[in-house]
Amino acid sequence: MKAASAGLTDVGRKRDHNEDSFLIDEELQLYVVADGMGGHAGGGTASRIAVETIDKRLREMRAALETPPASASLQDSPVPETIRSAVEQACLAIFAKAQEDPELAGMGTTVISLLLDEAHAFFAHVGDSRAYLVRGELIQQISEDHSLVNEQIKAGMITPEEARHSRYRNIITRSVGFEEEVQVDVMGLLAEAGDIFILCSDGLANMLEDQEILEIVRASALKEIPTRLIDLANERGGDDNITVIAVRAELDDGPDARTASVVRSP
Ligand code: CA
Repeated sequence: MKAASAGLTDVGRKRDHNEDSFLIDEELQLYVVADGMGGHAGGGTASRIAVETIDKRLREMRAALETPPASASLQDSPVPETIRSAVEQACLAIFAKAQEDPELAGMGTTVISLLLDEAHAFFAHVGDSRAYLVRGELIQQISEDHSLVNEQIKAGMITPEEARHSRYRNIITRSVGFEEEVQVDVMGLLAEAGDIFILCSDGLANMLEDQEILEIVRASALKEIPTRLIDLANERGGDDNITVIAVRAELDDGPDARTASVVRSP
């Protein structure tokens, strides 16, 4: 599958430094957003180690990414376990670094990563950074937030609207590197020509409704999408660092399903 992409990060309007990191590796067709947290220098260090380690590990494991033809089923692919292992390696690397340096103690990061192969889009996810799929006139959130407010929504304790304004909305329930091991969600879907994937940190998702993201994606050239989304998040107050990657799948043809079926593991 061919793909085109654009990515941008911005400190926002309220923070004095940017703890988000992102990576676009066009050769591997790997895209990662990481939103770090913890201590003075910890957040930025954690998110940087995450994107660097994931990229390095996947380059080392390139052979495992050379998947069977597009006709092979999603479940047979070795890619999900490969990207899971890369995020686990990042977790170990961040944890080890934090043990060495008291100033970095307790650091961690979210990770949302996308890897494209011949026909599929694979995601590895920890925390509350998000992946969206824009297909035609629809937007679908692919990742499920590992956050306190999402747990509260699922338990019926609060509504999504209340979650948006909750004082607890920044609390995540899983992070990469805070502990030595982390449970990584891995998902895959069959991509279609024209699919646009948006990876973003919560500095975007907390400021814009999904429908607003959809409208901007549909109205913008691919290269303009990150800038326009970040501009709107900043107009709304720019409470947090904001990172956006937009990736468009440009394969020749594909099945005609309108809604992607997402295979999740575990
Ligand atoms: Ca954030």
